[in-house]
Amino acid sequence: MIITIDGPAGSGKSTAARRLALALGIAYLDTGATYRAVTLRGMQNDVPLHDEQALTECARAMRLQMTPCPDGLIVEMDGQDVSKAIRTETVSRQVRHAANAPAVREVLVALQRTLGQSLGSFVTEGRDQGSAVFPDADFKFYLDADPAQRAQRRFVELTARGEAAELTDILEAILARDASDTGREVGPLQVPDDAIVIDTTILSIDDVVETIQRHVEAA
Ligand code: C5P
Repeated sequence: MIITIDGPAGSGKSTAARRLALALGIAYLDTGATYRAVTLRGMQNDVPLHDEQALTECARAMRLQMTPCPDGLIVEMDGQDVSKAIRTETVSRQVRHAANAPAVREVLVALQRTLGQSLGSFVTEGRDQGSAVFPDADFKFYLDADPAQRAQRRFVELTARGEAAELTDILEAILARDASDTGREVGPLQVPDDAIVIDTTILSIDDVVETIQRHVEAA
């Protein structure tokens, strides 16, 4: 069984996907981590992130492994645990270069399909999972929420981790990421035709997971 959950930053899809996978006893795939890992690798190797060819080389060369753990996934790049390093605001602000580069996307989409194949049944989340990467998925969901609410969630997450954060800066970054994610030609953020759309603005994460689970179990 393949379940896709797409949506913009802060819509709650990562937490929902993780919790849903746990509830259903199946695996979880975080595809944003692949774009973040390439970005981190580029930054670590002083690669100009706007250089598509160089970034594509980074994508091809990196060995990425995702292992489930109680609070999500451990992401290892070339044997090094980068789970925290890929989630900083610095990486979030730079990730558009990898996401907007068609050649990088091609490598990462192939990687995501390979990772998926090795997982068997899984919940995957990202921007293009139902529309482009796993178009034959059994269930497709699209989570959305008001941008102010999404910025607030990200603010809470960052401050809980001890990262300095300003709510207005986060909102600005989220709006910029939305524009970049929806506007690109390859793999844009879009609602798949056959997806169930859930507005999570006033829903708790428990409500979101319950709603998705009801749809899956009713089928
Ligand atoms: O979901 P997350 O915030 O970790 O994703 C980081 C970035 O990676 C997104 O802003 C988006 O630009 C890109 N992404 C993508 N396609 C995916 C998943 C993420 O373009 N399937």
